[in-house]
Amino acid sequence: MKLNAENLSSLPAKVLRPGYERSLVRQGIVHIGVGGFHRAHEAVYTEMLLNQGQANDWGICGVGLRAEDRAMQAALASQDYLYTLVELSDGADTPVQVIGAIGDFMLADEGCDALIAKLASPDTRIVSLTITEGGYCTDDSSGQFNARLPQIQHDLEHPQAPKTVFGFLAAALMRRRNAGIAPFTLMSCDNLPHNGDVARKALLGFCALRDSALHDWVAANVSFPNAMVDRITPMTSDGHRAQLQADTGIEDSWPVVAEPFLQWVLEDKFCNGRPEWERVGVQFTDDVTPYEEMKIGLLNGAHLAMAYLGALLGHEFAHETMQDTQLRDYVRRYMDQDVTPLLAAVPGIDLNDYKDTLIERFSNTAICDQVSRLCSDGSSKFPKFVLPTLLGQIAQGRALDRTALIIAAWCHYLGGVDEKGKSYPIPDPRAAWLAEAISDGDKLTDNFLALEDVFGQKIPQSAAFKEAFQRQLERLQTLGVRATLAKVMAE
Ligand code: NAD
Repeated sequence: MKLNAENLSSLPAKVLRPGYERSLVRQGIVHIGVGGFHRAHEAVYTEMLLNQGQANDWGICGVGLRAEDRAMQAALASQDYLYTLVELSDGADTPVQVIGAIGDFMLADEGCDALIAKLASPDTRIVSLTITEGGYCTDDSSGQFNARLPQIQHDLEHPQAPKTVFGFLAAALMRRRNAGIAPFTLMSCDNLPHNGDVARKALLGFCALRDSALHDWVAANVSFPNAMVDRITPMTSDGHRAQLQADTGIEDSWPVVAEPFLQWVLEDKFCNGRPEWERVGVQFTDDVTPYEEMKIGLLNGAHLAMAYLGALLGHEFAHETMQDTQLRDYVRRYMDQDVTPLLAAVPGIDLNDYKDTLIERFSNTAICDQVSRLCSDGSSKFPKFVLPTLLGQIAQGRALDRTALIIAAWCHYLGGVDEKGKSYPIPDPRAAWLAEAISDGDKLTDNFLALEDVFGQKIPQSAAFKEAFQRQLERLQTLGVRATLAKVMAE
């Protein structure tokens, strides 16, 4: 049965569905980047609140700025923006749930003005983002907004026909300011250390180039809460669609699958109101820093540790890397001996329990999280997920080999062929730039570590790191992954 509003009441009784009147919900949130994660996280928390009758001002309007968003928009529009959430775990099944929190979905392609008007509407009180780690146009080595990018230059030249997030946000905030409408909160839900601060820097960087009065107004009035977000959400496959139909009869063009675990720690800095998400398990705090450093260092860092070595070994899914005891032991030791010593105490969390839970979550065989997904966008992920750990280790004079191996594995992976001889594409928007850096085998270490946008200046200047990287890379090239792991674990 096709998923849509008309068929909701005919779905099997075991399927959970919106328990509120969708037509009465106003859209207080505009979300840019409606991928899997938003649909499994913020939209789900909001759905829980809507089901309690507590969020009628906080429905969500999705927005897609890129051509690739058209497929998701068309899929959701054809089913009245309803979609199914399927939780996958090795434990008991949880009920399938139809989510109704997204009530509309706009595409930039279909008219800039309508989108700017939506963002400028007084009803829009929060704009949230999941635009990936690379979407913030920030130079990782300096932390500064990168105004040289052609799309940013385009937006500065065409302020009423922008293409980027920051062009749209600035255009809408200009309208709000001119009309005396209070600004919205800009809430990043991307995996970035201090994601609110990064969003603030990027938006202010853009506004400064556009209009200094707008810059000052945004600086004084818009709030940018930092957040730690967590829920492993793999890409939806045709197998997931077929399984959903077989189990429930629901024909959903684009269901979302996720692990049962979900977490959101959020700073309570909202300039224009917010939903009472604390009623449904969101933890509000004054300082999210220890939570995000723990999560990004341990979860996202460990993901990279298992992803590239796993890909080189020919593993397809995250759980296969955890069933590989050699790889699992290495990942755990990286967490225990490299990341943990650099972490501050995290209120209310026992780090050993947290790491045990991570290994359990990575081992989930039902979710089939793709190693290729974990390997994507390495050039944006390394500076956020692994290099802060490395910089801490260099500063404290700690052993560097396990961390160096993660980076060497990425470099070796960029060659595009695994140890079974199988070729794969490099899923990174900067793949051509990376390919150039590894093209000369004789100068590989120097050219690769000279990628300043990734490594900055301090890392290549560390002789100890360069030596450790070179050692691990040579081992991978000559001995292969297993012998390299055996050596690094024996040292
Ligand atoms: P996805 O590929 O399903 O969706 C990505 C969305 O971001 C798409 O709508 C795409 O159009 C948009 N986007 C990408 N680059 C953009 C840009 N430059 N400007 C505007 N929009 C852009 O990915 P996802 O699984 O939804 O993950 C998105 C982000 O969510 C991740 O990068 C990460 O920061 C965060 N996150 C994901 C997970 C997860 O397990 N998937 C967990 C925690 C956090």
